[in-house]
Amino acid sequence: MAEQLIQSIIEAGRWIDSQGWCPATGGNFSVRDGDSVLVTASGRHKGQLSAADILRVNFNGQPVESDLKPSAETLLHTALYELDASIGAVLHTHSVTSTVLSRLIHKGMLTLQGYEMQKALSGNQSHEEEIRIAILDNSQDMPLLAEILKAGWQVAPLQWGFLVRGHGLYCWGRDMAEARRHLEGLEFLFACELEMWRLGVNE
Ligand SMILES: [Zn+2]
Repeated sequence: MAEQLIQSIIEAGRWIDSQGWCPATGGNFSVRDGDSVLVTASGRHKGQLSAADILRVNFNGQPVESDLKPSAETLLHTALYELDASIGAVLHTHSVTSTVLSRLIHKGMLTLQGYEMQKALSGNQSHEEEIRIAILDNSQDMPLLAEILKAGWQVAPLQWGFLVRGHGLYCWGRDMAEARRHLEGLEFLFACELEMWRLGVNE
């Protein structure tokens, strides 16, 4: 079972790298495995992952029987698994689109409406529904960012993903397949929004 989960992370890494969404060893990916989490080690190129680049951590982000170093961002993965028991996989990427779009919007929320692609996000039946993607200010203090995420979640639980300003996207699904679909759908929606900004027809 763990081998299949590890393989799903390796394959996601190759695909995400091929899209250019995780350049220069950025980003991290994880899957829930029972009461622990399998996650990419810090500083590895995400297009060239092997099983030796993936470690097991507990829900505090501490390695379990591994000498590998988890990324500091692992704390956001484990926070998500704790916040929502239905989350089975988390993908954190650094695309140009999510980096730029999150800097253009100064509010704490990106609102999307009118796109057919919204239906790629689980639970959305129509382009008419309003999709809300939170934007957190970036920080190098990951415990603080995890606390901000948890505090905001108590007010309004998030769905599908959130942006970190000038940094990238965290998105998730009940399994890796759904997380990948959410990532692809969100990247498409963000690219459309950015194009609207270029055309000067957005806020
Ligand atoms: Zn990052």
